[in-house]
Amino acid sequence: PAALVWMRRDLRCDDHAALYHALRRYQRVYCAFVFDTDILDALPTRSDRRVAFIHASVQSLDQELRALAARSGAPGGGLIVRHGPAPACIVQLARSLGVQEVLTNRDYEPEAIARDQRVAEALRATGIAFSDYKDQVLLEQREVLTQQGQPYSVFTPYKRAWLQKLDAFQLTPYPVARYASHLAAPPDGERLPTLADLGFEATNLAQLPLPTGAQGAQQLLQDFVPRMAAYHEARDFPGRKGVSYLSVHLRFGTVSIRQLAALAVQQAAQGSEGAQTWLSELAWRDFYFMILWHHPQVVTQSFRPEYDRVQWDEAPELWQAWCEARTGYPLVDAAMRQLLQTGYMHNRLRMVVASFLTKDLGIDWRRGERFFAQHLNDYDLAANNGGWQWAASTGCDAQPWFRIFNPVTQSQKFDPDGKFIRRYLPELDRVPDRHLHFPAAMKPLELQACGLRLGQDYPWPVVDHASARERTLMRFHFLARKE
Ligand code: FAD
Repeated sequence: PAALVWMRRDLRCDDHAALYHALRRYQRVYCAFVFDTDILDALPTRSDRRVAFIHASVQSLDQELRALAARSGAPGGGLIVRHGPAPACIVQLARSLGVQEVLTNRDYEPEAIARDQRVAEALRATGIAFSDYKDQVLLEQREVLTQQGQPYSVFTPYKRAWLQKLDAFQLTPYPVARYASHLAAPPDGERLPTLADLGFEATNLAQLPLPTGAQGAQQLLQDFVPRMAAYHEARDFPGRKGVSYLSVHLRFGTVSIRQLAALAVQQAAQGSEGAQTWLSELAWRDFYFMILWHHPQVVTQSFRPEYDRVQWDEAPELWQAWCEARTGYPLVDAAMRQLLQTGYMHNRLRMVVASFLTKDLGIDWRRGERFFAQHLNDYDLAANNGGWQWAASTGCDAQPWFRIFNPVTQSQKFDPDGKFIRRYLPELDRVPDRHLHFPAAMKPLELQACGLRLGQDYPWPVVDHASARERTLMRFHFLARKE
């Protein structure tokens, strides 16, 4: 008997739920990945770091599967790679390989759920079983519920319940290697497509400090483990190396969430505050997956429906300034440059620029959310939507609408020495530290002294924060009765 493991956002072969179940139950197990044209064709550009990241990680996975099989003395191993519409590719492949079952790890996005249902039906119509497993999250949508059996919509009580449920079983890795001798070799003549075969161009991925594949994830993890103890103090400062940078690996499953959580739980048990805080971030991740699953309407609507009555501005020029890092607020602009140049943005800055777009520029959170979706390497519908709705005050457990980030004080507080701003805005190089957070406040003589020509070298602020804040309070004011 044979099975096919369909890999998607789980590009590793250790501690892999579907692969483990397949290897335990079947004598011959094939592994496949599809470069899904239903997704790729909709991308606005042919130069996309995510596609390059996946491509590199798929190549590594192919080698890792071969090595895993070789270590167990099996003749097999390797990855079958297809390029086309995923449902048709998987059904066709399952039939041509003659497998009895297709196994995969569960996805929680509405479109992915619908796709998997279609695949399951098509397979079953030809007598092939389909099964899916929890792998991407620690605790799923129905595993953490209130005493009344309802999903939580506030994070703190959710986290409390989540921590109680997170036992040793949830953290135990799947021992894939034990059954690796069941790995089957891909059919003769299989070869992996190049990036060009997929119709994509090279990106600057190789120049970024972002190693790919499961090995890349372990490299980043080894770098982070000694820093975990200081996470709670360092994580809010984009100029410092305080966070793990593992999000893209979590997004594509080149690292196991169980491995990360087990490390954090272990360090937290020894009293590490940093590890406890980091574990909370992993809880946020599960929280947003859970919210998306229970409330798929959040993809296009505010979590709190009354917030869809907010009248946002069209503001095409302000929108362009935000997208192109030309707002005249250095922290916002440096953050947007980080996104455009690297595909990453620090969490504090995601909050700052999202607040700036919605509360200072009065632009609908959905537009910012879509922009992030195009540019973030770690773009994840659940976390991105949750983050945007949090910042726009339209979401579950969101920041209250009358609390509005001040982009200048955020800058003074979280980039006090301007290290981050200077990294991305070299045009402000000669501006003294005390003015770096808001060069528009400099007097003409001060500007002259540092040679900065506002309006030429660096833009004037596109809005005045104090008046923008007042406009936002008015914009949201009708909600006051409901708060
Ligand atoms: P670390 O600080 O090391 O955290 C570890 C992991 O915890 C992250 O990799 C991530 O998987 C998870 N995590 C941390 N914070 C959050 C959070 N607030 N919500 C959910 N998971 C979290 N994260 C994404 O993975 N994809 C997105 O598309 C995304 N969009 C965001 C948009 C906005 C407006 C905001 C405010 C936040 C968004 N986040 C998103 C959450 C967070 O900013 C990133 O996960 C984090 O910056 C990634 O860097 P890191 O891996 O170094 O994080």
